[in-house]
Amino acid sequence: MSRLDSFIRRITAQRECLNEAARAIEGLDGVVFELGLGNGRTYHHLRERLPDREIFVFERSPAAHPDCMPDAEHLFVGDVHDTLPAAVERFRGQVALLHCDLGTGDLAGNRRLADFISETIPPLMAPGALVLTDPAFDLPQAERQALPDGVEPDRYYVYRWP
Ligand code: SAM
Repeated sequence: MSRLDSFIRRITAQRECLNEAARAIEGLDGVVFELGLGNGRTYHHLRERLPDREIFVFERSPAAHPDCMPDAEHLFVGDVHDTLPAAVERFRGQVALLHCDLGTGDLAGNRRLADFISETIPPLMAPGALVLTDPAFDLPQAERQALPDGVEPDRYYVYRWP
């Protein structure tokens, strides 16, 4: 498969998972955490799909298009190793949807970061909350969910909090 095909499949899977998650949390109170602003594409998409939700973004070097930039109250600037643990007390049990898209080309680094986030987020999650991520998290307390129709297995990882 060409790199272009692979990119398109990954982005399509991401969009389908975000759309399904946005529908699935309709009846659930809570905020959204977006880890990794990047160009702001998925943040912008979530804002469109979830116009009434507060969305908090975590990013070490924000540089998105101005249309995709959260206001200062909804943007935690810094490394998630610092900013995520610092958010635990304020948001304890209040996160209805967490989307993690922090990946870089460093696969071993991505794995270490995924392990750190897996350890850090449990106190944040509301009952019934969803976690969307690539790469996989290690969340024994959560139940892995089937992916939307048409999305290949292991393209994305979705977990539901008990
Ligand atoms: N979801 C974004 C979009 O749709 O445009 C793409 C996110 S991009 C793949 C990954 C982002 O995560 C980059 O902006 C990078 O700076 C950020 N990032 C990576 N590691 C981080 C860390 N440890 N702490 C904070 N931000 C990090």
